[in-house]
Amino acid sequence: MTSQNQQFEQLCRKDVKLSAYSTYEIGGAARHLALPHTIEELTIMLDGARSKGLNPFLFGSGSNTLFPDHPHEDMLFFSLKEHIEFKLLPGRLFVSAGTPMTLLALFGLYTGIDSFDFTFLLPGTLGAGIYMNAKYFSHQISDVLETAYVIDKEHPEKGLISVPISDCEYAYKKSIFMRKPWIVVGADLKLPVDPKLTPQQTEELFAKLKSKNLPSSVLPDYYRHYTNELNIAAKQGFKVRQEMLDVIEDRSGKLHFDFPSCGSVFKNNYTIGEPMGKLVDRIGLRGTVIGGAMISDHHGNIIQNRGGAKAQDVVDLVHLVQEKVEAKFKFLPEPELVIV
Ligand SMILES: Cc1cc2nc3c(=O)[nH]c(=O)nc-3n(C[C@H](O)[C@H](O)[C@H](O)COP(=O)(O)OP(=O)(O)OC[C@H]3O[C@@H](n4cnc5c(N)ncnc54)[C@H](O)[C@@H]3O)c2cc1C
Repeated sequence: MTSQNQQFEQLCRKDVKLSAYSTYEIGGAARHLALPHTIEELTIMLDGARSKGLNPFLFGSGSNTLFPDHPHEDMLFFSLKEHIEFKLLPGRLFVSAGTPMTLLALFGLYTGIDSFDFTFLLPGTLGAGIYMNAKYFSHQISDVLETAYVIDKEHPEKGLISVPISDCEYAYKKSIFMRKPWIVVGADLKLPVDPKLTPQQTEELFAKLKSKNLPSSVLPDYYRHYTNELNIAAKQGFKVRQEMLDVIEDRSGKLHFDFPSCGSVFKNNYTIGEPMGKLVDRIGLRGTVIGGAMISDHHGNIIQNRGGAKAQDVVDLVHLVQEKVEAKFKFLPEPELVIV
């Protein structure tokens, strides 16, 4: 075995249940799974996958991905969620792709910057947020991005490629990253004002936040962990802005963290004038159950795993909604959920 082969084997975990890496808590055992901590490890992994003829599938924290019940043997599932780095630079903040988006809101809380408030309790990593232009009401990742840094999966030898915001082709839940074989590895984010911290204090703050055993993909743990972080900051005298408290109220009211799910399943069709959740309500599908999956009885655009759901149960509900909505409203709803 060559040493590169050995490094690849060390990076690869074998026969790992993907359900532990998805907020749906759904997914069978992957033959190969890797969680590279650095760009170097990522490159070793991509080279190894190529030489072994494996098909790499990238994910972040699995909060928008439905993994298969029976993953193909030749797939290599990999996530950058262990690659968490931040650097305060003049007028901007560099953040690596694996960083949970909600850490940005906490950074804003400690530094008096409000432009990241919308990322509070937005499950998922920054890399995926950049990929799909994650949004919360009127705020989206494209509002705060300055430059994304990517690696071409097919040509990693090209090294880091900079993609300025003007080239990102951002629209509602759309970007250039969705049509290119690119892995987002990090980004420079805009800072509207200078943070009340030095670069070293910023690194110490992130190091402290990240050292606290970041929550798994289990949504109630995620919710408890980050609302607790808010309380800790408040006790230290940092002002928790109303926007962040509103996020807690809104998401709790929609039972976002009560059952395993991936949040909204379909993109809204703005030409129709009503969000998908309302359309699903209007055709009376709320509460519909297939196997272990159910269309939330609180929000028509969320499909929950109510216990032991299979990927196929969720897919069947997705098809049911598509069929009924198309029949009544004459358009085919486009899933936001990534179905592997
Ligand atoms: C309770 C709940 C509430 C939610 N609320 C919202 C919301 O308000 N707004 C919203 O937009 N979303 C919401 N989501 C969906 C989800 O959190 C976001 O879409 C988030 O951006 C997904 O991040 P992730 O790391 O979990 O992505 P994953 O599910 O792991 O991956 C999603 C996609 O991103 C791609 N990807 C991942 N990492 C990278 C990378 N580094 N480079 C390139 N592509 C990458 C993957 O290939 C995959 O196609 C919610 C989900 C849940 C469970």
